[in-house]
Amino acid sequence: MENILEVKDLKVSFQTYAGEVQAVRGVSFHLRKGEALAIVGESGCGKSVTAQTIMRLIPSPPSIIKGGSIIFDGKVDVVTLSGKQMESIRGSEMGMIFQDPMTSLNPTMTIGKQITEGLVKHQGLSKDEARKRAIEMLRLVGIPNPEARIQQYPHQFSGGMRQRVMIAIALACNPKLLIADEPTTALDVTVQAQIIDLMRELQEKTGASIIIITHDLGVVADLAQRVVVMYAGKVVEQGSVDDIFYNPQHPYTWGLLRSVPRLDDMKKADLIPIDGTPPDLFAPPKGCAFAARCPYAMNICLEEDPEHQKVDEGHSAACWLLHEKAPRVERPVRVGD
Ligand code: SF4
Ligand code: MG
Repeated sequence: MENILEVKDLKVSFQTYAGEVQAVRGVSFHLRKGEALAIVGESGCGKSVTAQTIMRLIPSPPSIIKGGSIIFDGKVDVVTLSGKQMESIRGSEMGMIFQDPMTSLNPTMTIGKQITEGLVKHQGLSKDEARKRAIEMLRLVGIPNPEARIQQYPHQFSGGMRQRVMIAIALACNPKLLIADEPTTALDVTVQAQIIDLMRELQEKTGASIIIITHDLGVVADLAQRVVVMYAGKVVEQGSVDDIFYNPQHPYTWGLLRSVPRLDDMKKADLIPIDGTPPDLFAPPKGCAFAARCPYAMNICLEEDPEHQKVDEGHSAACWLLHEKAPRVERPVRVGD
C-alpha cells in the first residue's frame, strides 16, 4: 500500500523566555492510504505538536522545525512549503478535528457559512453547490434536519452535535488526510462512542487516511489499525494494534497497558498515569528518557539512548531490553491473559 504520509526524523522546538523546549525529538512514522493510525502517550509527549506540525498550524516563532521531513502524498515536503501553499493544502487535502469544537468553530457565523466557506474558496464551488454539499455533509454526519440546522449558530448545537459539525467541515473537501486530536475527550461517554462509531463509518465509506491522537485505549481498539507510542518527544514503540496490545515490548507501553485487567476490557480503558514525571524537555537526559521511571533501567540506559529494534514486520521498539546481550526480564502479566 502506498503511503499518504511519511514523517522522517522530525524535530520541533519552542522558543520560550526560559530557553528552548525540544518538544519533538526525531519522530519517524508513516501512514498508509486508507489507514487509521493512533498516536498515544501522556500529555506533553509531543503528539499534538507532531500533528499540528504536519498541518503547519503552529506559528513560527515560537515553534521552529529543527529538522526532518514530512512527505505528503508522495510529492511535497510540508516542512518546506510557504504559508500560502500550506493554506491551500489545509483547505483541500488535509482536515483536522480538535478536542473542543467550541473553540474551533466561529461563534458569530452560521454553521452553513462555516462549511461552505472552504468549499467556495478551495474547491471553486458556487454558493449554491456549496450549500447543497454542506447539507449533504451534515446529513452524512448524522445531523437531523440539516436544511434548517444550516442556518443556526454553534451555540444552538449540543457538544456532540458540534463535534459532528466539525467532522462535516473537516470532511467537506474530501481530504486525503484527516487528523483528529482527542476528538472525544470533551464529550460525555455515550456521545464519545457515537462520535467514534461515526468516524469509523466515515473512514470505511470515504477511505480517508486518519491520524487519531488519543489517551483512550478504547478509541485505539475501535478505530485504529496501527499505533505509535510516544514518550518525551520520541516514538518509543510502533506496530499494529495487535502488536501493541498483545505483544508490547517497551516498558512504557507495559505501563500504559497495565491498568487493563483483561484485553476484552480494552474498550473501556483509559491510559492510567505511570508513577513519576516525564523528563524536562528543556534539557532532555542523554540516555533513555524513560530511565528515571523505568523499573528495568540498566547502566547503559543512563548513558545511551536506545535505537529502534525491529521486533516483527512493522513492529519496533526503542529499548535496551531488546538488545541481544540484555538480561531477560519478566514481563508484567495481566490478570486474565
Ligand atoms: Fe527502561 Fe532502559 Fe528500556 Fe529505557 S532503555 S525503557 S530505561 S529498560
Ligand atoms: Mg494534546
